[in-house]
Amino acid sequence: MTAVALGLPGVRPDAPPEHAPLPAGRPDVPGLVDRFGRVATDLRVSLTDRCNLRCTYCMPAEGLPTLPRDAVMTRQEIARLVGVATRELGVRQVRFTGGEPLLRADLVDVVRDVAALPDPPEISLTTNAVGLDHRAAALKDAGLDRVNISLDTLDPDTFARLARRPFLERTLAGIDAAAQVFDVVKINAVLVRGLNLDHASALLAWCLERGFELRFIEQMPLDADHAWDRSSMVTAAEVRAQLADRFELAPDQAPRDGAPAERFVVRPHGGGAALGRVGIIASVTEPFCADCRRTRLTAEGAVRSCLFAHTETDLLGPLRAGADGAELADLWRTAMWGKHAGHGMAEAGFVQPARTMSAIGG
Ligand code: SAM
Ligand code: SF4
Repeated sequence: MTAVALGLPGVRPDAPPEHAPLPAGRPDVPGLVDRFGRVATDLRVSLTDRCNLRCTYCMPAEGLPTLPRDAVMTRQEIARLVGVATRELGVRQVRFTGGEPLLRADLVDVVRDVAALPDPPEISLTTNAVGLDHRAAALKDAGLDRVNISLDTLDPDTFARLARRPFLERTLAGIDAAAQVFDVVKINAVLVRGLNLDHASALLAWCLERGFELRFIEQMPLDADHAWDRSSMVTAAEVRAQLADRFELAPDQAPRDGAPAERFVVRPHGGGAALGRVGIIASVTEPFCADCRRTRLTAEGAVRSCLFAHTETDLLGPLRAGADGAELADLWRTAMWGKHAGHGMAEAGFVQPARTMSAIGG
């Protein structure tokens, strides 16, 4: 569903969203439309702000104050809000994230409830996989379609330095279990200069051997330590250069279709049969905001139109106060209508959001 298909006034099919004129008010068209003609169909739901790792690019060593239990959406509230998103707002894909979603004891039930919605969305999970070995099969049975697992290195010492916990073996056990039951396993990696930049090719080789699609994510300024620095961040161009020591990458000709990752076909040096694909998510240096299709719910049931938004719209309060589906949908649509054209990282005066990645839901 596009803005043009929706008949949004003033939006040309070829207009980059940054240049679309602003209609005066929110038009009466269905779906999560914003002022720049984008339509959000992909929902990220944070299930918790807690985590059992302390990745340097995400959380401080000492952790963060966590939400009180009754401030976090219950299983029933998650299903209710996801139901509003799918039934009334055109959302087609739901990804559960956090914090670490596996820390929720009711995760399998959360998935089952959403899978039981009428006209259910595609359901995926982003996880560090610690403990996934015990739950992968139950999650699959409950209706989980896909998993994305975060793994930045195969070296136990580097893992322990990056995640500040010595849990590489537990993550690998979770990945093994996921590979047994899910058709698609994607691996997410963040490269940090001086820690795992030179591990990139080994990680890619390991993923290709197992049929996993690896995606490198540029580090974004969402760390609690506010230590992010554009000049020291590992860029997508550097990732490509790093991988060139062992592989040849050619842009994948398949349409990107709103996906954050730019995909490449991987071949060994000197050519030969394709070994698989790799994705690079260049959120900082090659932003894809113009084609963003995402909307987010925090663990406490607030809509964020963007990772880098400075405002949120509470839905859980109104839900608990008795708001019906139409009222919740209207609040959600208003929140998305205010979405900014881009994250603004390249602009002078960019201010990092107060919340970290773990608290927003990555
Ligand atoms: N705990 C789960 C995990 O690590 O997969 C889910 C939540 S985590 C916030 C989701 C994804 O965000 C992970 O792949 C992680 O590597 C990524 N991430 C965290 N902080 C980031 C940052 N500052 N920049 C880019 N990606 C980040
Ligand atoms: Fe936890 Fe995921 Fe953040 Fe690492 S990236 S600290 S695993 S929420």
